[in-house]
Amino acid sequence: MPAQCANCGFIFESTDEVGQPCPRCGSLDRRIHSHQDAKAHGFLKLKKKGASSKHKKARADYELQQGERIGKDGKLVSIERVIDRDSEHYTEVVKDKDGNVIANKDERLSEHK
Ligand SMILES: [Zn+2]
Repeated sequence: MPAQCANCGFIFESTDEVGQPCPRCGSLDRRIHSHQDAKAHGFLKLKKKGASSKHKKARADYELQQGERIGKDGKLVSIERVIDRDSEHYTEVVKDKDGNVIANKDERLSEHK
């Protein structure tokens, strides 16, 4: 079951970790949360394919990915990613939980690795 550290808010990804002291603050207090967590780990993906698509079947012309992830530092961040193959554009906006923009990428799809 997904759980969060009651002390610092660290979110445990696996049930194995829940029984361990918090990797960030060492606390053993847990806060189990239900529907909020399902949202936090859900990743919305939207794909659009135009009728006049010149691309191969498997690839969408336009892709929107939106959701929340645990970043490298253990903090929850929200990501909005747009892959637009028609205009060869890739944008990615990463925000922390307070809505501050951490990363804002806007690059040519061909340059995106
Ligand atoms: Zn903690």
